[in-house]
Amino acid sequence: MNNILITGGAGFIGSEAVRTLIEKGYNVFNLDKLTYASSEESLNEISKDNYTFFYGDISNKNDVKKFIKESNPNYIINFAAESHVDRSIDGPETFINTNIIGTYFLVNEALSYYSSLSQKDKDNFKFVHVSTDEVYGSLKHNDDLFYENSPYKPNNPYSASKASSDLLVRSWHKTYGLPINITHSSNNYGPWQYPEKLIPLTVKNALKGAPIEIYGDGSNIRDWIFVKDHIEAILRVVFKGKNGETYNIGGNNEVSNFDMVKKICNLLDKLEPLNNGNYSDLIDFVPDRPGHDIRYAISNNKISKDLSWEPKTGINEGLKITIKWMLDNREWLFNKSKDLKRQGIKKN
Ligand code: NAD
Repeated sequence: MNNILITGGAGFIGSEAVRTLIEKGYNVFNLDKLTYASSEESLNEISKDNYTFFYGDISNKNDVKKFIKESNPNYIINFAAESHVDRSIDGPETFINTNIIGTYFLVNEALSYYSSLSQKDKDNFKFVHVSTDEVYGSLKHNDDLFYENSPYKPNNPYSASKASSDLLVRSWHKTYGLPINITHSSNNYGPWQYPEKLIPLTVKNALKGAPIEIYGDGSNIRDWIFVKDHIEAILRVVFKGKNGETYNIGGNNEVSNFDMVKKICNLLDKLEPLNNGNYSDLIDFVPDRPGHDIRYAISNNKISKDLSWEPKTGINEGLKITIKWMLDNREWLFNKSKDLKRQGIKKN
């Protein structure tokens, strides 16, 4: 068997996993509810010989049971989630349903499937849960990094729902012996990211000549990882990670939101110059969001030492690839923005 069940494989990070695994020759099964954040187009170019799509909802027990059975997986990688902090503040319920209840159905049905396997197949089974550094809460500017044993201190409904799901996965391992890994990555960027997140939203607004909004004074710091590097790290964890372990996955790229927006504007000035002025003239500081974490930064020590993984892509190189992709795919970028308007989301 070489079967991998991915949940949320039509989303930004999950689709990178699907594309990579198909290219490596695995049989990939993708269970996705196709929410506003998904892009089926992101999978248009994969070979469909070893690919099966399941339209379904991880917070529906029957869907989860049925699709685990049909995919007969060696590995399950759970990417499916509601993932946008602002939306979690406006409407936490879907975050509770998908991120917590959905993960509960996944681990519980995975356990019942695992229990039915032969010893040989049991030895080759793992459930990998993709989580975020946001569960650790916020650092001050001079604090040490987050490590795998840092306490959980989530500050918003999104990070609280991810923290809850991590604890369920951990306990299904400790109590029932389900083989698992949990990963915590920092902020991802790259092609196909839905334009409500900082980088694609900034590019989209800049290209439209609309205000580029920055929360507060823009001094909040995030560590950025290129999505391809994140997937390489996850696959290292899937195939080599020690059962029951948690791994942090960082990009070694701490950048303040203001500096990130400036970097994007400078790149756009070079790649698609304006007739008058610079893109940074569009920057507009807006009131901060509630519970806005000051700084996230995580240590890669463990994954680097135990699994020999390091991020390869520096922020300037990764941003250039990402922004060039967005310029080449601006129709997608703008059409996704229309989706936002249809849903009555306030952002430009
Ligand atoms: P995304 O919002 O782009 O994609 C999520 C995908 O999950 C979409 O395809 C969506 O249709 C699907 N989905 C949502 N609810 C579902 C449900 N109930 N059943 C089945 N499918 C459902 O998210 P992303 O940015 O690709 O993030 C993927 C995972 O990585 C998430 O678990 C997120 O918490 C985690 N993560 C993301 C980042 C980041 O910077 N984007 C950083 C760290 C961790």
